[in-house]
Amino acid sequence: MTEFAFKALPWNIVFGVGAFERLPREMDALGLDRALVLCTPGHRADGRSTAELLSGRAAGLFASARMHVPAATLAEASRLARDLRAKCTVSIGGGSTTGLGKALAARDGLDNIAIPTTYSGSEMTDIWAVTESGRKVTARDPRVVPNLTVYDPRLTVSLPASMSAASGLNALAQAVVNVATDKPSPIPSALAAEGIRALAHSLPRVVAEPQNLEARAEALFGACIAACALGVGSTGLHHRLCHILGGTFKTPHAETHAALLPHSVAYNAAAAAAGTQKVADALGVVDAPLGIYELAKRLGAPTDLRQLGVDESDLDKVTEMTTQASFHNPEQVTVDRIRALLQNAFEGSPPPRV
Ligand code: NAD
Repeated sequence: MTEFAFKALPWNIVFGVGAFERLPREMDALGLDRALVLCTPGHRADGRSTAELLSGRAAGLFASARMHVPAATLAEASRLARDLRAKCTVSIGGGSTTGLGKALAARDGLDNIAIPTTYSGSEMTDIWAVTESGRKVTARDPRVVPNLTVYDPRLTVSLPASMSAASGLNALAQAVVNVATDKPSPIPSALAAEGIRALAHSLPRVVAEPQNLEARAEALFGACIAACALGVGSTGLHHRLCHILGGTFKTPHAETHAALLPHSVAYNAAAAAAGTQKVADALGVVDAPLGIYELAKRLGAPTDLRQLGVDESDLDKVTEMTTQASFHNPEQVTVDRIRALLQNAFEGSPPPRV
């Protein structure tokens, strides 16, 4: 008999081609104004056009968002928000920009609106982070979930094929870890399975035809529900490894997910056999880890840690940090097995057969 407990997050989503133009109306409906618009330095033009669309509802622009929310960036954005008497933020960009909006919500209680332009999915989770002295600290707090998320597939067509592939596999990871586990929670698992189907179906088309709006919309929807699954679900070995590699060894976020996912799923395949089979079914393949590996290859996403700048001599340290961390994982986390997983991922070998 199914038994579970479930608590939803306060998601508020507007999704569709042209949704971006609805932003002023949606803000008025929520009673939000005096927005500090956030973007990365490379996307200042997007930040400006967002501020123009908001017209009198914009308080200013902060175009210095950076990956992993450095504490100095957070402090600078917070000062500007205070000086401009901003009452909320509107972040337009990928997970780096959304992350700054969430950190400002946690630090200063500012309402936040997210306009995602990658498949990272940060906007659907309650996880926020800040990085200080090379250490990334994360916490969960439902108050950082954006008051509104505006998904407009048109804003993703400029995402290059290579970044779309890596970011799409980052989204796939959010879903896979909530299905391929020994104790899947039924609601996150159902969302995740649908996310896997949508991503597996759409990503090859996105990479082959980056301008295809239908494929872009399906991928963005897949990323949205995969991240919903993560928001109300859990993480384990896979996210722990990515966190250590990204936080300490500075590997790029989405690409690290892409290279590691087949190997972390293979690691748990025997201990989470039923869940791993569900991943395979959702992907439409026989063997889930191999299916993910072949999908990554087909998309042209990174499949080895070597090309992400990891040094082979770092693998012992990553093993040590992983085995010393405390987290739930279906399979026992041992030094020998984690070191072997990392060696495979480093070389980009196919994952061991399930
Ligand atoms: P990102 O936001 O840094 O974007 C990656 C690159 O793509 C950047 O150079 C950016 O300028 C560019 N870009 C973004 N959208 C574009 C577009 N439409 N067209 C062209 N270029 C575009 O990276 P990301 O992978 O989206 O996010 C990574 C960050 O998000 C990390 O800090 C990670 O920890 C965080 N994250 C957090 C969560 C969470 O739940 N808190 C979930 C996933 C990721």
